[in-house]
Amino acid sequence: MYNKKLADLLFPNVTKTPEEVDAEFPLRGLPEGAVVSRMAPSPTGFVHLGNLVQGLTSERMTHQSGGVLFLRVEDTDAKREVPGAVETLIESLAHYNIVFDEGATIDGDNGAFGPYRQRQRKDIYHVFAKHLVAEGMAYPCFCTEEELEEIHKAQEAEKANFGYFGKWAKWRGRSIENIEEMLGKGMPWVLRFRSEGSIENKIKFTDLIKGNLELTENDIDHVLLKSDGIPTYHFAHAVDDHLMRTTHVVRGDEWLPTLPFHLQLFRALGYKPPKYLHIGPLMKMDGTSKRKLSKRKDPELALTYYKAEGYPVEAVYEYIMTILNSNYEDWRRANPYAPTSEFKFSYKKMNPAGSLFDVAKLRDVSKNVISLMSAEQVYDYVSAWALEYDPDFAKVFTKDPDFSKAILSIGRGGKKPRKDIAVWSEVKAYVSFFFDEYFRIEDSYPEASDKADIKAALEAFCESFDTNDDMNAWFDKIKAIADSLGYASDMKAYKNDPTAFRGSVADVSMFLRVAVTGRLNSPDMYSVMQLLGAEKIKQRIADICSSL
Ligand code: GLU
Repeated sequence: MYNKKLADLLFPNVTKTPEEVDAEFPLRGLPEGAVVSRMAPSPTGFVHLGNLVQGLTSERMTHQSGGVLFLRVEDTDAKREVPGAVETLIESLAHYNIVFDEGATIDGDNGAFGPYRQRQRKDIYHVFAKHLVAEGMAYPCFCTEEELEEIHKAQEAEKANFGYFGKWAKWRGRSIENIEEMLGKGMPWVLRFRSEGSIENKIKFTDLIKGNLELTENDIDHVLLKSDGIPTYHFAHAVDDHLMRTTHVVRGDEWLPTLPFHLQLFRALGYKPPKYLHIGPLMKMDGTSKRKLSKRKDPELALTYYKAEGYPVEAVYEYIMTILNSNYEDWRRANPYAPTSEFKFSYKKMNPAGSLFDVAKLRDVSKNVISLMSAEQVYDYVSAWALEYDPDFAKVFTKDPDFSKAILSIGRGGKKPRKDIAVWSEVKAYVSFFFDEYFRIEDSYPEASDKADIKAALEAFCESFDTNDDMNAWFDKIKAIADSLGYASDMKAYKNDPTAFRGSVADVSMFLRVAVTGRLNSPDMYSVMQLLGAEKIKQRIADICSSL
């Protein structure tokens, strides 16, 4: 009687029953084994690698099994919400090709299990909250902040565990009159769970990533509804994942400590909990020890970092797959061009302790990914990136698209493509010498080089250069210049007796390279010269000769 009366007192306007609400959410009717999972981020404006790791895991598991992936916006903490965060979130995930079958979208909801924004589901939670009160499994608590602080201090003094439980749970056994009086005065209240657990007891649980776990039971009367009637994450996720027919919850392992409470909640609601996959943290090496990536210390935790640096989405995706599934790299080596969707992702290959995230490794992966792209693709990506992050460069780079694409074609295709671009922001430096706007002598000639020889070689080259020469004819001319100046044209002969020569054809090539590209290292010189054309080459050679 007491419980029923209390439930009506607290939720006078709630008339529906959990069964009625449940019936409003259809069963999904998916084939056996189809995974239904979700991304359930909070719209804080900060989208991080952890979101991506969790999202990709859910995405692969659902889509690989013919299931459903949906997006639920967990906006119950209004204080942490940043305007525009939902849009940022949806756009960032779309940027990484995480496609949702249903859920929150920028234009509203899509799907039969909505609303997909938790604040809009308040009435639903209240039905379940009222039910828990009526069943004696929840009660109102009128403690003020100050009172809670006092409890905390008293616990500190007694060296007791912290939290609202046992004798500290002041409102656990109050009379209806007492509660009615407080309500009559309009005092704010939260709804608390009445935990029957004890820290003396252990529960056994199998997490799909962490394996068999033994966890301590929960004895805390956690908050289910805050004083504004909005639920806490714990309560909302239990109600939602049941109603939305989630089969697998993939989330960070920071939720593991509250899992016993979540399991209690499902039991109290009378629902079977979903399967859980708790992902270990992303870590990095800091000196010789590992530590968790931190929002404060590591810019690479934010997804915006990768976009601004110009990592292709494919590369980030590729790298995340390598850290998520230990057999991915081998698969990729055997299938260099296959779409990732053909890889058989398995949560069983995930490391329970978390993954080491290494930007250097990501760069290598990215170089590889970019080396397999066509010049056309790279051009499109670089132009789009530059337009947003380096508009001056965008202007120069897109002035003559064919010219830029031809630059990007050097060393591309074939069995061993060049791997010198890791991020789009490096492309400017890579191509700059092709454009008069940026060309300058960046590397000077080594001290040991003889200036008169350099001049003589460059002048001879200018006289003989003909853009119609094929690569062999072009190189024969350089060899002839080498011979004429006492530099070995035959590298073997030079290696046998370096003292017999002033240097080798490699030195003569270097004289040319610095004059024409301004650098000691550059892509294939023949291709570079073909693209630059006789006029530019001669001009650059004349300029450097006059400075020697
Ligand atoms: N809103 C929770 C978070 O952002 C989601 C955890 C979950 O996926 O259940 O951490």
